[in-house]
Order: sequence, then structure tokens, then C-alpha cells
Amino acid sequence: MYFLRLLRTNNQNPLSTSYFLTLTKLQTLTQNHQIYVPLHSYHHETLTQNNVVASNKLIASYARSGDTDSAVRVFESMKVKSTVTWNSILSAFAKKHGNFEQARQLFEKIPEPNTVSYNIMLACHLHHFGVGSARAFFDRMEVKDTASWNTMISGYAQVGLMGEASMLFAVMPEKNCVSWSAMVSGYVACGDLDAAVECFYAAPVRSVITWTAMITGYMKFGRVESAERLFREMSLKTLVTWNAMIAGYVENGRAEDGLKLFKSMLESGAKPNALSLTSVLLGCSNLSALQLGKQVHQLVCKSPLSSDTTAGTSLISMYAKCGDLKEAWELFVQIPRKDIVSWNAMISGYAQHGAGEKALHLFDEMRHDGMKPDWITFVAVLLACNHAGLVDLGVQYFNMMVRDFGIKTKPEHYACMVDLLGRAGRLPEAVDLIKSMPFKPHPAIFGTLLGACRIHKNLDLAEFAAKNLLELDPSSATGYVQLANVYAAQNRWEHVARIRRSMKENKVVKAPGYSWIEISSEVHEFRSSDRLHPELASIHEKLNELEKKMKLAGYVPDLEFALHDVGEELKEQLLLWHSEKLAIAYGLLKVPLGLPIRVFKNLRVCGDCHTAIKYISAIEGREIIVRDTTRFHHFKDGFCSCSDYW
Ligand code: ZN
Ligand code: ZN
Repeated sequence: MYFLRLLRTNNQNPLSTSYFLTLTKLQTLTQNHQIYVPLHSYHHETLTQNNVVASNKLIASYARSGDTDSAVRVFESMKVKSTVTWNSILSAFAKKHGNFEQARQLFEKIPEPNTVSYNIMLACHLHHFGVGSARAFFDRMEVKDTASWNTMISGYAQVGLMGEASMLFAVMPEKNCVSWSAMVSGYVACGDLDAAVECFYAAPVRSVITWTAMITGYMKFGRVESAERLFREMSLKTLVTWNAMIAGYVENGRAEDGLKLFKSMLESGAKPNALSLTSVLLGCSNLSALQLGKQVHQLVCKSPLSSDTTAGTSLISMYAKCGDLKEAWELFVQIPRKDIVSWNAMISGYAQHGAGEKALHLFDEMRHDGMKPDWITFVAVLLACNHAGLVDLGVQYFNMMVRDFGIKTKPEHYACMVDLLGRAGRLPEAVDLIKSMPFKPHPAIFGTLLGACRIHKNLDLAEFAAKNLLELDPSSATGYVQLANVYAAQNRWEHVARIRRSMKENKVVKAPGYSWIEISSEVHEFRSSDRLHPELASIHEKLNELEKKMKLAGYVPDLEFALHDVGEELKEQLLLWHSEKLAIAYGLLKVPLGLPIRVFKNLRVCGDCHTAIKYISAIEGREIIVRDTTRFHHFKDGFCSCSDYW
């Protein structure tokens, strides 16, 4: 914004060199960081009448920001137009969301089209109609340069037509690094890593782009070590290379390595863009590493990315996922040009935290703002209704989505609806909804139904849900465990034993539960009955002290959740050592008073822990936030935001 202010206030002579330099800087800024800077119309006129090069840049910049109207305004006010001018405006129309017919008419009008004009049109055919139409246009092109061939090859590669791609690749007159990396990426995309590797090693001169394509490929196939080896060997790394590595780490569940690499990226002097930030913040969210996320935020504030919508939205998601809704909201308010992704991030944030009314209120505000909701918005809205217990409203929104907005239902919507109806105990309706699904139900939906049956103690439907779940996913530990829980609750131990046996026969392994907490930017992990943590003695002392106080306050351990054929006393002990209790006790010892304790769990919080944490929040006067696989629980003064349904 600094340059824009400079342009406006200095009122410089549009013909002066400094004015032009300022504008060029502005263009560079928009190019590098996709910052959208609309110029005052005064600048349009003065500039365009006097400087063809500057005007061309301005058109290109508008085209990139998706502001076609402004691009056209500049174009039409120009007295002299070069082929570059025509190409810039053609690009504006040929873009993904542009209008093919307008682009085609414009293309016909270009007095002296060059290869660039043809290539833009070729890409336009690809975007709008795919490879058949593009190939016909390609074959009609009289003059082709390497870029034309590359566009066509990439087009084939992107839709997995590697046979066609390699035929063109074989006969193209001059291959460059873009051609080689298009082939490598293409093989990776269609799942042929061997062919990708072969192509990579066949490249005569390996460029940064080809290497980066190969790194992305290795990461996609989980071959992190191979990617790391290439990365180490590279003397020159571009922003894309760094981003590929960071995103690769995060996607492979190694968020901590991603964060480390992000730090060394900054140390190396490379400037991150919105994409690097999105990956690294996703890593923070996955780890729920709020303090690390805050550090990234501080870096963003000092960079030109601070006014970038995508970067801002990634930060909102990170704060929301790490449980800091206040900060998420403050950021949301500050975003000047909110897109659908920003709205969705904030609405989902509220919904996941059980702030259903706030989420729905924001949804109204969004529509009031003229923003059209998409399918992700409705997932958030249904989730909000679910967590606020607004069953009928949820049903209304579900119908409205299809009828008024023409949005196709997705498995996620059905999952929310089954949860919503299940919560209200309307189990037969939930079953009917599953039966009415236009696609094959996914295993998770029966898992949700099973959970509802467990809570409402409906054994018949629980068996139905479990049977379906295990049929679709025989390795589902959740299916067995939930069903076993239903039987255990009714003391039908012979059934519990039978389920255990079939789990063993089917070699089903229950994912071990663990919880973690971030203390001073360091993530501490706990497993149930942990014996590894160095400060375990004081943690147990704290837990025993808490247990006494809790029992005085009326807490009775809920042994339903200790699925072990052991004595009652030992069951209590086992419950006390559940990983989330260990993490919370550690938090009580380490997190300064007045600050909330944030704990994360890889499985659903068990019923006993849930009750215990409610007591702990009241006894210790602490706000405790627990994120499990399904939602956030905000415990305060003996209550939980989920109203005991999760
Ligand atoms: Zn527990
Ligand atoms: Zn809760």
C-alpha cells in the first residue's frame, strides 16, 4: 500500500522516470505476492495516454488479479496498441474463469498475432474444452515454438494421457526444462513413479524445475528420504522447491520437519509466498502448535503478505484449529477483501468450537454481503446446527442447499445430518437418510450412527450400524470398539469377548490413544499409562491430588470406559492414566495461571475423561480446551461447550 500512497500523494508528472519506476515496482509487488492494488482512474488516464509499456504492464497486472473490467478500461483508452497490448488483454479473457467466446473474438481482431497470442489461445482451449479441442487448434497453428509444444504436452499430462504426451514429446524439435518437468510431473500425477524417475534421469541438463517436479513426485509417494536427498544435492533452490519440500513434509505427517525447513528457508534469505505459508500453517494446525503458529504470524506481519487474503485466511484456519477463536476473529475482521475461503474458515472455526449461534449469524452476514455459499460453507453450517442442537434448522438448511442454491450433496453433508439426527435421538430418521443417499455410504457414516446408538443405548440399530461399518471397512477398529462399548454398557461380557476374538482373528489393531500439549513451543506427547515422560512423578502426584478433590466434589469414575477384565480398583487406576488426563495434569503444572490449557487427542475423548475434565476445570478454575478427532471441547466452570454430546 505504501507505493500506492506514494503515487496518489506525490501527484508526480506521469511522464517522469520516477513515476514510471514507482509503477514498475508496484507491478513487481503485485506479481510476486499477488497483492491486488486497484489504481485511481486518474492514473489510468494519465498513464495510458502516455506510456504504452506502462499501460501493458497495468493490463497484465489487472488480468492477473482477475479484474477484467479495469483491464478493459485501460485497453480501450490506449491510442497506440502493440501486439503485447493485445496479448495482455487476451490473457485477461482467456483465464480459467474467463469467457471463451470473448477471448476467441478478441483473438480474431488482433492485427498481427504472434506465437504468444496463439499460445494464449491454445491454453484457453485447454482450460475450457480440454485436450481434443486444444489439439485441433495446436495442429492448425502455423508457427509453433517450444512453449506451444510444452502447453500441449502439459495439457495431456494433466489429464493423465501420458501416451499422447510422450508421442508429442518424442517428436518435438527442441525440448527445454519445462518439457522435461511436464513429463516428470505427468508421470507422477498418473501414479507411475518409475517412469517419472526414468524420465528425470534421462534429462540431459537437469534444471531446478525438473528437480522440483521430481521432489514433488517422491513426496507424493511418501518417499521422503529420496526427496530430501535431491533437495540436499540442489545448489540452487527456488521458492517452488522450498514450497514442494515443506508441503511434502506436512502431507507426509511430518509437520515438525516442515516447520524446521520453513525456518531455514527464512534464514537462507528466501522470501515465502502465500503457498509456503499455507503449508507451514497447515503443519502448525495439524500439530496444534499454537505458539509456533504465532511465530509464523509475526513473520507474516513484517512481510508484504500481511495484506494477502490467502495468507490471512491460512492464519484464521490455523488459529481456529489451534483453538484460539478470538485471534481468528480479529484477523477475519481485518481482511479487506474476504473471499469465500475466508468466510468458510471463520464459519467452520466457530462451528467446530461449538459456537453454533455465532457461526449461523456469520452465515447470515455472509449472504447479506452478497457472497454465494458453496458446499464447504454448508458443511460448516450443518456442523454449527449440530453443535448448537438446532435439529430442525439443520434439516431446513440441508433442503435449502439443494433447492435454493443448487449445490450437490456430498458425503460430508450426510455425515453432518446423520450426526445431527443421531444427537437428537431421531435414529430411524438417520437410518432413512442413509438409505436415501445418492451414492454408496462411506464407512464413517455408519461410525457416526454407531456413536449415536451407543449414546441413546439403542442396541438393535447399533448392531445394524456396526455390521454395515465392518462390511465396508473390516479393519475398522472404531466399529469393533464402539460395538464392544455398547455391549459392555449392558454388561453383556460374552459379546464383548466375541468381538475381541474377531478383532484378533481379523488382525485389527486399535490405534493407541495419545494426547499432546505444547509447552514453550515444544510438543509433549503422552500415551495412556505413560512411563516415558521425565516429569511423570509430579504428574501422577498432581493426578492423585485431583482425584481426591474430584471425588469430594461428587465425581464417580465411569467404569464403562475401562474395557478391561480387571478389578474395579485397577479400572479406576487405568482411567486415571488416560493420555488426556496426563497431558492436562502436565498443563496444570506448566501453563501459567489465567491462560487456557490446550490439549489435543488423536482419538475421541472418552466419557469418563470428559466428566473428569469438567470437574478439573471447576476445581482448578481453569479453562481447558481439548481437541479430539471430532470436535473441540471448551471446558469452563464445570461445563463443556459440547453439552456432553460428541
Ligand atoms: Zn479417557
Ligand atoms: Zn465436551
